[in-house]
Amino acid sequence: MGAPEAFTQNLDVAHWIGGAPQRGSGGRSQTVWNPATGQAARRVLLAESADVDAAVAAAVAAQPAWGDMPPIRRARVLNKFLALMNEHKDTLAAMITAEHGKVFSDAQGEVMRGIDIIEFACGVPQLLKGDYTDQVSTGIDNWTMRQPLGVVAGITPFNFPCMVPCWMFPVALACGNAFILKPSERDPSPSLFMADLLKQAGLPDGVFNVVQGDKVAVDRLLAHPDVAAISFVGSTPIAQYIYETGAHHGKRVQALGGAKNHMVVMPDADLTQAVDALIGSAYGSAGERCMAISVAVLVGDVADRIVPLLAERAKTLKVKNGLEADAEMGPIVTKEARDRIEAAIGRGADEGASLVVDGRGLKVPGHEAGFFTGGTLFDHVTPAMTLWREEIFGPVLACVRVESLDDALALIKAHAYGNGVACFTRDGAAAREFARRVDVGMVGINVPIPVPMAWHGFGGWKKSLFGDHHAYGEEGVRFYTRQKSIMQRWPDRAAEGASFVMPTAR
Ligand code: NAD
Repeated sequence: MGAPEAFTQNLDVAHWIGGAPQRGSGGRSQTVWNPATGQAARRVLLAESADVDAAVAAAVAAQPAWGDMPPIRRARVLNKFLALMNEHKDTLAAMITAEHGKVFSDAQGEVMRGIDIIEFACGVPQLLKGDYTDQVSTGIDNWTMRQPLGVVAGITPFNFPCMVPCWMFPVALACGNAFILKPSERDPSPSLFMADLLKQAGLPDGVFNVVQGDKVAVDRLLAHPDVAAISFVGSTPIAQYIYETGAHHGKRVQALGGAKNHMVVMPDADLTQAVDALIGSAYGSAGERCMAISVAVLVGDVADRIVPLLAERAKTLKVKNGLEADAEMGPIVTKEARDRIEAAIGRGADEGASLVVDGRGLKVPGHEAGFFTGGTLFDHVTPAMTLWREEIFGPVLACVRVESLDDALALIKAHAYGNGVACFTRDGAAAREFARRVDVGMVGINVPIPVPMAWHGFGGWKKSLFGDHHAYGEEGVRFYTRQKSIMQRWPDRAAEGASFVMPTAR
C-alpha cells in the first residue's frame, strides 16, 4: 500500500511546515521505490535551503510558547499522540513495508519500539524537575533546572523510518523544544503520517516540522544559526561529517554511525538457541539493521558443529514480498544497495573466505523485478579481509573461528565499530567476564539484538557514535536540555559592603 492520499500531493511526498503539507520552493524530487516489485511508487520532494529556512522560522516562532507550557501539559499532548500511534500502528507498519521492504511483522515491531519511546516521553516531567539545596550558605539556596535548547533537528536513516525518528522527537518535544525532522529520502512517508498524528493530538503548528531532502537540506540545518542541536543516525562517514560540521557551527551534536556486530558462540552454548539467534539477527530485515549480527565468532569446536546448521537454515529462508504472511526476509531497499551488497559478496569470495551459501541473483517468483538477494553465509573469514572490516548492511553472515574467549574479545576490540555485541553461553562466569571486558556499547548475553529499552538509552562506542550522549532515555533528556543553576538570597540585614573574597559557605 502507499501513503494515504492526505500525505501526498499528486503522489509527491511533501514537506510538513507550520502544521501543514508544503511543496516547498524548488523543483527537485527523487523516486521512492516499492522494493518488492521494483516499481517506482511515488516521488519525494527535495528541499532547497529556503525550505529549511521556512521550517526553522516556523519552529522559532512556535517554540517559546511550547517551551513555556507546563511540562505536564506537553506530556498530555504526547499522551494523545501515543493513543493515535497505537490506533494507527498497522497503517504505519504497512507504509514501512511498502517503502523499506522489511516484512510486515518486523515493521509492526519497529512501530512498537517507537511507541515505547513515546510512552517514556510522557513521563519526562519527572526528569525535568531538577534539584534543590536549602542553605548552601547562611541565607542562600541553590538549585538547578533543565531548560529546552530551542529548535533542534533530527536526521534519520532509511532502515527505521518510524522508530529512529521516535528515538528523537518525542523526548525533544517533551523537554520543550521545537523539532525539525529530515527523514531518509528512500522511505519518507511515515514521517508525514506521524506529523499529521501530532497535529491531531493537539501539538501547536510549527513545533514539529519535516523537511524532505538530501545533502542540501542537511547542510543548511548544520549551518543554520537558529538550530541549537542535531541528532543524527546513519552511516559512519556521514555521522563523522555531521559531528564535525555541526560542532564547527557551535551546535550540540549526537551522531550515531554504522556497525559490524559480533556474536560470540562459546563451545557450551545451546546450539539450537544460537542458530535461531544467528539466523534471525543476521537475516532479519535483510541485515539492514544497525544491530544486525554480521559476524559469528565461533569459539573452539563449536564451528564444525554450527556451520552446517546455519547453512541449512540460510538456504531455506523464505524470501518474499514483506506483505506476505509467511515471509521471513523481504527485499533490499534499493537496486543500488542490492548491487553493492552482491559486489561485497564477490569481493569476500575473491579474498579467500569460504562462500558456504551464496544468496546472489535470487529471483522471487512473481516479483522478478524486485530488489531481492538471498541469505549469504561465509566461513573462515579472517581479520585481514574487508569482509570482516567493512559494514555490508545486507543479509551476509561472516563466520570467524577463534580458540578462546580471550581471542574473541581481542578480535572485537580490534574492530573500528562498537555498536552491539552478543555472547551465547551457559557459563555465567564467562558471560560476566565478557560483558565487563568487551569494548562495545550495547551487550547481549544470550540476547542477539540487545536494543536497550526506552528508559535505558541507545548508543554504541568507537566509530558507531560521535558525541557524548546516547539516544533517548535520560541521556536523551540531557541532550535536549541545558542545565541552569540558580542561587537565591533574600538579605534581611543592612548592606555589608563589597566583598573581594571568593565566597565560601558561612
Ligand atoms: P546514510 O548515512 O546514507 O543516510 C542517513 C541520513 O543522512 C539520511 O537522512 C540521508 O539523507 C543523509 N545523508 C546521506 N548522505 C549525506 C551527505 N553526503 N551529506 C549529508 N547528509 C547525507 O545512512 P542510510 O543508508 O540511510 O542508513 C544505513 C546506515 O545507518 C548504516 O550504516 C547503519 O549502520 C546506520 N544506522 C545506525 C544506527 C545506530 O543507531 N548506530 C541505527 C540505524 C542505522
